[in-house]
Amino acid sequence: MNNHSFKYDYLIVGSGLFGAVFAHEANLRGFKCLVIDKRNHLGGNVHCKSVEGINVHSYGAHIFHTNDKEIWQYVNQFASFNNYINSPVANYNGELYNLPFNMNTFYELWKVRTPKEAQEIIRQQTENLNIDEPANLEEQAIKLVGTDIYEKLIKGYTEKQWGRPCKELPAFIIKRLPVRFTFDNNYFNDTFQGIPIGGYNKIIDGLLKDIECKTDINFFDDRAYWEQQANKIVFTGKIDEFFDYKFGELEYRSLRFEEATLNTSNYQGVAVMNYTDAITPFTRIIEHKHFEFGQQDKTVISREYPASWHKKAEPYYPVNNEKNDSLYKQYKELANQTPQVIFGGRLAEYRYYDMHQVIASALTKVKKEFQND
Ligand code: FAD
Ligand code: UDP
Repeated sequence: MNNHSFKYDYLIVGSGLFGAVFAHEANLRGFKCLVIDKRNHLGGNVHCKSVEGINVHSYGAHIFHTNDKEIWQYVNQFASFNNYINSPVANYNGELYNLPFNMNTFYELWKVRTPKEAQEIIRQQTENLNIDEPANLEEQAIKLVGTDIYEKLIKGYTEKQWGRPCKELPAFIIKRLPVRFTFDNNYFNDTFQGIPIGGYNKIIDGLLKDIECKTDINFFDDRAYWEQQANKIVFTGKIDEFFDYKFGELEYRSLRFEEATLNTSNYQGVAVMNYTDAITPFTRIIEHKHFEFGQQDKTVISREYPASWHKKAEPYYPVNNEKNDSLYKQYKELANQTPQVIFGGRLAEYRYYDMHQVIASALTKVKKEFQND
């Protein structure tokens, strides 16, 4: 497929996990790649920075988890993982509850000691509501855990996070969280979980080793120039922007992080504390050292504030409701007719992907692209 009129085989727009995995695999197969990113660093949202000897997750808590052994082995090529298990605590107006929703939470809320007692309370709270097929997040949440948990631990958090009523959100979002009738505070059900020792940059650096990368470059600032650089483009930015918002704008949710270094060795005793009331303006406080069991004298915390999205804000989350998903389909059809561009990742596929899913998606695209090589 080498076309000698181009300097590179692939121009990869975006150095997040999708772009980095694709570039790595193409480079291994002998293809010449250039990676560009509009930010001043590589790695996209998994980027970490070192503050006071602590790996700070610049764009919020990132916990790697997967059930897929191949993906686990793939990331373990580049870093060793520690045995961190995410067990966030919810803070509802000063009352603390274990997450995800499990026997510890039910005991803290209702003083019930057995699964049967907990199930009975949830049954009582849902029996007259006739929710067979939940039509939205509110119905799904109540069906799963009843009205008390919905009111204290879900409604406030979710409406802050997404900037809209739970009734206007898709049910699948709340199904990300396990509900368990065992005393188990593990936020994920996956077989493999951990934090890369030394931070996520180790993985990105490993993936992008020996590949030419340029930061502070926005593809759209000189699109015509960049399009002439490579035979093919891998695009991991916003798909609607790529097509000049031709069918209209997709909606995203943005965030703002407020970081502080504190003169204490242990601020909140847990890596992630969620503020689930409606009034506190942030959704969670991250204390980064706890991801790596840090023993430093100081600590670094980040408050995570949900923010509305506009064209100049960072698009952190796709909002996968019916309206946006059907708009995305139109863009996807255009993408299908644009074979010289491979679209991938959270923004270009408009999917609420976790890291392992982004890697899986990149490896699937790699397989397809290089099936004859
Ligand atoms: P990104 O990381 O967004 O990378 C895209 C890159 O493209 C960016 O660097 C961007 O600057 C660049 N770019 C975009 N447009 C252009 C352009 N025009 N020109 C040049 N460059 C461009 N996943 C988990 O598995 N576990 C977690 O605990 C977890 N926590 C999360 C917490 C938060 C707050 C967020 C926002 C996400 C979290 N995720 C988590 C999801 C995870 O961040 C993503 O799945 C993954 O990082 C997405 O990788 P990506 O390559 O698709 O996109
Ligand atoms: N959620 C909630 N209360 C919590 C934590 C999460 O209601 O204390 C809901 C909320 O709607 C959130 C969704 O569950 O958007 C998924 O949570 P997750 O922790 O997976 O969100 P992310 O880390 O991707 O922001």
